[in-house]
Amino acid sequence: MKKEGQKHPNIILIVIDALRARNLGCYGGETNSSPNIDELAKGGIQFANCYACWNTTDQSLTSIFSGRYPRTHGIVHHGDKVTPEDLMTFRKLNGKLLAEMLKEKGFKTYAVDWMGRWFKRGFDFYGYERDKNIWQKFFYIVFTLPYVHLRYMAANISLLRIYSKKRKTSISSMWKGLKGVWNTFRFTFELARVQDADYVTKLAQKLIDDIKDDNFFLFLHYWDTHTPYNCPKKHMDRDKPRRGSIDIIASKYNGAVNYVDKCIGDLLTTLKNHKILEDTLIIITSDHGESLTEHEMFFDHHGLYEVTTHVPLIVFHPKLFSRPKKIQGLIQHVDLVPTVCDYLGINDKDLVCDGTSMRSLISGDREDIRDFAFFEESYVQRKIGLRNKTHKYIYAPDGIGMCNYCQKVHAGVEELYDLERDPEEMNNVVSENRIMATQMRAKLDEVIQKLNSKKQQLLEKKDVTKANLEDLQDLADQKKIKKKLRSLGYMD
Ligand SMILES: [Zn+2]
Ligand SMILES: [Zn+2]
Repeated sequence: MKKEGQKHPNIILIVIDALRARNLGCYGGETNSSPNIDELAKGGIQFANCYACWNTTDQSLTSIFSGRYPRTHGIVHHGDKVTPEDLMTFRKLNGKLLAEMLKEKGFKTYAVDWMGRWFKRGFDFYGYERDKNIWQKFFYIVFTLPYVHLRYMAANISLLRIYSKKRKTSISSMWKGLKGVWNTFRFTFELARVQDADYVTKLAQKLIDDIKDDNFFLFLHYWDTHTPYNCPKKHMDRDKPRRGSIDIIASKYNGAVNYVDKCIGDLLTTLKNHKILEDTLIIITSDHGESLTEHEMFFDHHGLYEVTTHVPLIVFHPKLFSRPKKIQGLIQHVDLVPTVCDYLGINDKDLVCDGTSMRSLISGDREDIRDFAFFEESYVQRKIGLRNKTHKYIYAPDGIGMCNYCQKVHAGVEELYDLERDPEEMNNVVSENRIMATQMRAKLDEVIQKLNSKKQQLLEKKDVTKANLEDLQDLADQKKIKKKLRSLGYMD
């Protein structure tokens, strides 16, 4: 129920890490893993063709929060590879983040996520521990955590079996692998604590109890669908026959989807009990997808293929969107912030986004707001790509496209896929359709050139001295961040 004097709806932004659109029932997923999310999609607006701007978390989340592509927000590396230059450029470009803007408009801004980073700008609370008394802490550490931790370790062992078979076993890669295993085990304790959907949800419910009488923005980051796919056994699909480790891991992934979905159901119940569901705008998306062996990428998110770049986007608010709809037009994460501002009637001069409001798509006035989606990657291989309505073009700007994760070149320097005839991107038709490849390459160059010159303009225009100093703190935290990221396998 809307409180007296409340100007805006509450907003809950849920990012489910590494969730592929195709594994949700509402996006055609085969298993019935996501009944609660499907129900929201049925009653809200579902975007059938939403694309991430980068395939790793740091760049992508920054795009979600800023409405800018990584080239114009400045963070073009991920995890332990984020450079001081990235952070300085981010400061100089001085993009305003969604939480900062909403806080200025009087929102209480809370987040449940372990990352922090520069995303914490604008949040009143950003973290995963709050108000636990000593007995609760004791109970959690002695009983809950070891159970989650064991589950987490078991998942890692299955992954390791796959990796040892699929990766080349030279002495140096074995050594790298062993170091990776050691770090992963070393930090699983911490990750078990922060990668558990139930924990995230319970803290979110507690926070909602605190802020339900205010106008609030709540950001929830679920990590269970990230490797090694955290999932209590009861959420795994038991009917499907499983042959070997790969099937078991894929089943765990779907189990993790189901686990997060169940927790989202619990969250919706809390909102209903507080009678605030009808005044809360719920946004569900993921920062990128995941390859579950497709294109010979075993349980990781690299490559610019559909499994990794096509993400779900569902918005739900029975009053704002009284007529449920499935929208086919291409959109990207950068379109999210302009849309929120449009619906809230916020016109912030400091907000310089690359995206476009999706309001005309939702109202039905337009069928398309963009004719392409643009994405990049840099963590284990350097690729840039563009998709239009019918085709996808991928290019390796270093002229090789070597993947440092799989120790191989996945496909040549240029790739072209006819997505209508070949939605799984199995046949590279770059030599058969040179005309389309040339056109898309020219468009790709044009998009990059436009973004680069926009970045230049922003750098010249902005008063750098006003840039937020919190990012310097992040520089100091790099060592701590590195430690955490190693456990996720993000390491040299
Ligand atoms: Zn991620
Ligand atoms: Zn690879």
